[in-house]
Amino acid sequence: MSEEPAPSGERIGIFGGTFDPVHVGHLVAAVNARHALSLDRVLMVVANEPWQKVGERPVSPAEDRLAMVEAAVAGHEGLEASALEIERGGTSYTADTVEALAKLHPAAELFLIVGADVVAGIETWERLDAVRQAVTLVSVNRPGAETVEISDDGPLSGWRAVAIEVPDLEISSTDLRDRAQTGRPLDYLVPTPAIRVIRARRLYAERG
Ligand code: ATP
Ligand code: MG
Repeated sequence: MSEEPAPSGERIGIFGGTFDPVHVGHLVAAVNARHALSLDRVLMVVANEPWQKVGERPVSPAEDRLAMVEAAVAGHEGLEASALEIERGGTSYTADTVEALAKLHPAAELFLIVGADVVAGIETWERLDAVRQAVTLVSVNRPGAETVEISDDGPLSGWRAVAIEVPDLEISSTDLRDRAQTGRPLDYLVPTPAIRVIRARRLYAERG
């Protein structure tokens, strides 16, 4: 992640996730959001402790999830892995992340990219008002999640928000973990460099 303040007028996308593992659904959403909104770059922010997921299932170590995202975006212009939440430590709240990025890049315009499934739960977020003030919300469609309408009586009324269309890719990290544990291939669903990280670190080991 770049620690340099952004040049004035820079447009920065923030795409947070557990990325356990990262998959092409994430990457296709990120590059299409970048294109549709002329973002200079999209930060793939790896959650340290995703508050909604801890306790429900084992989450892979943050360093391993970061390594997969770094491998997946290496050499791709405009996509960056961000360790901001990992460096901060503790539970990862989007409000803290957008505030930190706003401070780091005071002249930049921030866009928070989320899948439609995440929009459905947005009312439960910590310090929602701080997030609402700091960003334009970018909703991307996701198979299985209701299409998000941007309207005065929709779920994002009161937000600066846009919905953008991305190819529907029915891929989830949950399914990929299951595939790995049952010995089915991840090929072409997870970028090859990230699969190498999975193999080298023996993540999602097959059930015996
Ligand atoms: P899990 O099944 O473990 O929840 P996931 O596939 O949903 O994993 P996350 O890390 O939870 O991945 O998601 C990070 C962000 O990416 C969220 O905003 C989510 O909505 C979005 N996202 C994940 N998969 C897709 C997809 N196939 N298409 C569009 N957006 C996606
Ligand atoms: Mg998810």
